[in-house]
Amino acid sequence: MTDQAVSTTTTNEKVNLLDFDRQGLRDFFAQLGEKPYRAEQVMKWIYHRLEDNFENMTDVGKALRAKLEASCYVGPPKTMFEKGAADGTHKWLLGMDGGNAVEAVYIPEPTRGTLCVSSQVGCGLNCQFCSTATQGFNRNLATSEIIGQMWVAAKYLGNVTHQNRRITNVVMMGMGEPLLNFDNVTKAMSLMRDDLGFGLASKRVTLSTAGLVPMIDKLSETIDVSLAVSLHAANDELRTELVPLNKRYPIAELMAACQRWLDRKPRTSITFEYTLMKGVNDQPEHARQLIKLMRRMPNCKVNLIPFNPFPGTRFERSDAETIRAFQTQLLNANVLTMLRRTRGDDIDAACGQLKGQVLDRTRRQAEFRKRLDEGASHAA
Ligand code: SF4
Repeated sequence: MTDQAVSTTTTNEKVNLLDFDRQGLRDFFAQLGEKPYRAEQVMKWIYHRLEDNFENMTDVGKALRAKLEASCYVGPPKTMFEKGAADGTHKWLLGMDGGNAVEAVYIPEPTRGTLCVSSQVGCGLNCQFCSTATQGFNRNLATSEIIGQMWVAAKYLGNVTHQNRRITNVVMMGMGEPLLNFDNVTKAMSLMRDDLGFGLASKRVTLSTAGLVPMIDKLSETIDVSLAVSLHAANDELRTELVPLNKRYPIAELMAACQRWLDRKPRTSITFEYTLMKGVNDQPEHARQLIKLMRRMPNCKVNLIPFNPFPGTRFERSDAETIRAFQTQLLNANVLTMLRRTRGDDIDAACGQLKGQVLDRTRRQAEFRKRLDEGASHAA
């Protein structure tokens, strides 16, 4: 229960039920002298019907409703700002505390709807091409603040769990390195997966990491979700420059961890994200290095992300011809390769680029900062 105590948020001593996974909720109900099935009944109200008012939980007895009212609440983050694009992309700026905020973005496609979720306020890993890095690390999000992003989006979208759901995929690819907030992130992902939660299959819940090798192993032992790795370069010198974490966990160690992941989960694949920056990592030689690396991961996929500049960055986006040539080189070498396309441009490209199930961070974070500055005027 130590982790629970660390992550649980309270208001006037009341406990936020969004901080609990199924077992945590059962334990809490046991403390209230209630049976486990009561916890599950309430859990269904919270995640299937997106109900946050105990009064409306009509099949929960009056006495228990009063008990819940006195001891706990269902507290999703507050929406400070939201905007939708003509193509259905929608973003929310969600207020946490002390002026902190994170962004969640929904991107609909013909066969899926993907929600990008943040795990930390800011980030301490200092990847050179990421605007979140310029904010530094502020704090980890609580479980309620992570699953709460999905709760807010699901409520807005009228998501119906298990039937024609609007959110079919979640990517932990917003602000922060999710493996550095391991307990709260895995608890939130268990709620995304749980049948009494949002009920998503393992291949539809993806965690993206910059490459924290020991935590990749721990993740594979803890929860059944999909893995994406922010690679961005296939040689150590360049990757250390772009992703300083590479100095601690160089590519060989990272690939070994990925191989162990695949050994443990033989029917899964890993997505490798590669942001293309003009003259930095977009040359034929870089593609050759990437191909060599991917030969050891035959069923894995590369997601090419055209870099989206943000204020103050020294990088530029590769030109269209270079991007095409890079992709062709990979495809010709039989590397499964996707190229993200732009979404949501009419809302200032809220989350920039998407291909498949992933989002671009950099431009979104620039947008986030802009909105945060404007936040006071939008806050209710
Ligand atoms: S890319 Fe990810 S891990 Fe790197 S600084 Fe940005 S948020 Fe952190």
